Amino acid sequence: MTLREKMQREQQLKELFKQAQGYAFDYADEALQRNVFPSAKAIEELDMFAEELPANTGDAKAILEQLHRYGSPASVAQTGGRYFGFVNGGILPVTLATKWLTDFWDQNSALQVMSPITAKLEEVCEQWLKQLLDLPENTVAGFVSGTSSAIFCGLAAARYRIYQNHNWDFNQQGHNGAPPIRIIAGRQTHGAVIKAIALLGFGLDNIEWVDADDQGRIIPQQMPTLDSSCIVLLQAGNVNSGSFDPFEAICANANAVDAWVHIDGAFGLWAGGTVQLKHLTAGMEKAHSWSVDGHKTLNTPYDSGILLCRDKEALVTALQATGAYLTSSYSDSRDGMLYTPEMSRRARAIELWAALKYLGRSGVDELVVGMHQRAREFSEQLNDAGFEILNDVVFNQVIVSASSDEATNQSIMEAIQKSGECWVGGSVWKGKKVIRISVCSWVTTPEDISRSVQAFIHARDSVIAACEK
Ligand SMILES: *Cc1c(COP(=O)(O)O)cnc(C)c1O
Repeated sequence: MTLREKMQREQQLKELFKQAQGYAFDYADEALQRNVFPSAKAIEELDMFAEELPANTGDAKAILEQLHRYGSPASVAQTGGRYFGFVNGGILPVTLATKWLTDFWDQNSALQVMSPITAKLEEVCEQWLKQLLDLPENTVAGFVSGTSSAIFCGLAAARYRIYQNHNWDFNQQGHNGAPPIRIIAGRQTHGAVIKAIALLGFGLDNIEWVDADDQGRIIPQQMPTLDSSCIVLLQAGNVNSGSFDPFEAICANANAVDAWVHIDGAFGLWAGGTVQLKHLTAGMEKAHSWSVDGHKTLNTPYDSGILLCRDKEALVTALQATGAYLTSSYSDSRDGMLYTPEMSRRARAIELWAALKYLGRSGVDELVVGMHQRAREFSEQLNDAGFEILNDVVFNQVIVSASSDEATNQSIMEAIQKSGECWVGGSVWKGKKVIRISVCSWVTTPEDISRSVQAFIHARDSVIAACEK
């Protein structure tokens, strides 16, 4: 049998896909029960993957079997309800199922003519996101791999527009001899924004840093005087405290002088789609570009980031470097690649569409407000148990100190992680090592919270008992 014949058989029999489905369903049941973080044994056994590159064609069933037997136990069970690490989201069942179906389609999202269905659903998502988040009517969306990429696109558009306003065509003339651009950022700006600043050649030494208050919000009175050479970087959702910068006044000042404002709202922008938490994003519609993830708060599968920008010409020209959208679109329809740095891309917007279609406005509200409520419960119960809560829990993030002694705090965090009961990560807040909790999954129940609080208490007791010995 030739390789092609062999694969044709696999395709027709569909046994492989049924095998994968069986494993996936076993995993889905197990992930909710087992240790959140893989056991030491599971991680040790990963060594079995360190094989020589096979000389010959393999057996597909055996490959899947190996992956499930050794891979599944070494995954982090973040689809369960007690994963609070980083700001990773869960996955809505409808989006996972959509991903399965569309995996069989294997669409390329670059051009409408490559995938009419993807182009249509990207257009629908663009429209729905504008409506949900109350963004200006001329806002366009690029569907990229994550917020890091979205920030990069937003700042590239900003750079194009600001130079254009100063009669400098950045695509043609580049950096050499260009007028200076001023970058204004808060002290608590996320690392992904800093990375984009460096990648785009603005230079980290050129950032004009603005002090933040005790919640990590930019202090508007500390803002320098803005002018038309400024890019201002604000955030909706501080990665530690979950706090939101004050958008209203800063955006008004920026707009008065033609400065550009980008708001990084990787997980926090969704507050703008709720009733109860919408006040946090007041004034955000006055910015020029916004970055947000589907794969965090909205619980779509990875990788799903969105760049929203109300200056289509700046975005498309910056990303295509050809002015393509003005002259040489491949069709009259929406070509997704005009709004992204890539050409070929997977059809991630279809999962986003499924999430928005399924949730609707009320579902987005319930999902996001639910995360906030669980975070409040977590912080209140920890506080009652004698842990110190270091932030105002305005959204889904909780900063905890388990001990005033940093080393003890670290030991307690590690004991929580080792317990397998839940998983929380560390961060640094006001120069001190702390424990950070992010409630970011639809799965998390009040029972998951109480159980996790118990894990905190047990970990503290065991670390203190060990110290006293
Ligand atoms: C996660 C995060 C990012 C980076 O997003 P990715 O999707 O991981 O690229 C940027 N900013 C904030 C505030 C974040 O929480």
